[in-house]
Amino acid sequence: MTRTTRVCRALGVLLIAAFTALAAGACGKEGSPPVKGPAQDKLPTFEVNKDFELPDSPTWRRAKQRGYFIVGAKEDQPYLGEKDPASGLYTGFDIEIAKMVSAYLGLDPNRIQFRTIASANRETALQNGQIDYYVGTYTINDNRKKLVGFAGPYYMAGQSLLVRADENDIKGPEDLDGKRVCSAAGSTPYQRIQEKFPKAILVAYDTYSVCVDNLLTYQVDAVTTDDAILIGYAAKLPDELKVVGEPFSEEPYGIGVPRDDNALRMAINDALEAGVKNGDWKRAYDATLGLSGVPAPTPPPIDRY
Ligand code: GLU
Repeated sequence: MTRTTRVCRALGVLLIAAFTALAAGACGKEGSPPVKGPAQDKLPTFEVNKDFELPDSPTWRRAKQRGYFIVGAKEDQPYLGEKDPASGLYTGFDIEIAKMVSAYLGLDPNRIQFRTIASANRETALQNGQIDYYVGTYTINDNRKKLVGFAGPYYMAGQSLLVRADENDIKGPEDLDGKRVCSAAGSTPYQRIQEKFPKAILVAYDTYSVCVDNLLTYQVDAVTTDDAILIGYAAKLPDELKVVGEPFSEEPYGIGVPRDDNALRMAINDALEAGVKNGDWKRAYDATLGLSGVPAPTPPPIDRY
């Protein structure tokens, strides 16, 4: 066999393998049901508060003049904030919360311009006026409160661990000694591992989806962040991934606003309270994060600090 024939044969085998993989991907794995994301026609519609005015908020005045809000979000967190690459549309619980707030504040939720901002860049984006508010699995804490303001919380998550389905040694954070653990730079889960479990080998990327890719290719042994986020990745690849152990922190999700815009922060607190009261919060949850199989919890009380 000449060298060229050998190369051609090898290429042929590769092509067949690639085609089979593609066909399998397109047709879905036997036995595992296709994972459904939020269906556009099942999402709640939020009535716009036409006469709403918030003259004390510079952020609101700018948005009102522009005609829509610019909202920071995540684009790779299933059921929470996910961007459809074909349509460019964002879906998920955080996205619905952002829309509910926009409608309450008198601006058409369907005109929101979403911008993907990674965990490490949220504070700067709010400080620079790049976004009006941020809704994306954003834990309220005292350190961040020095830089930005927080409305909420509107949901309570907890740090957890995602591992490969065949992993039996990692059941909680105390099993992470000497293991490679991936999280997002600038996140509270990253910081917690660094401080409380220093024998773990921490690996940081901008996003959790890159961590998950690294887990699937055996570059890391676990991914750590909030349970709400990890459940989404596990639901997409139930044969390959699982969430293990009990949550080991409290992550109250807030809506980030520019630090000194108290009028906006208070008005968003009002919007969240109104949404919980009129059922919009639960409708938003049921149509998005609820699809992961976890029934709607009671939302945490708003902290008007
Ligand atoms: N809630 C955590 C945080 O705000 C983790 C999720 C995230 O990075 O968005 O840091």
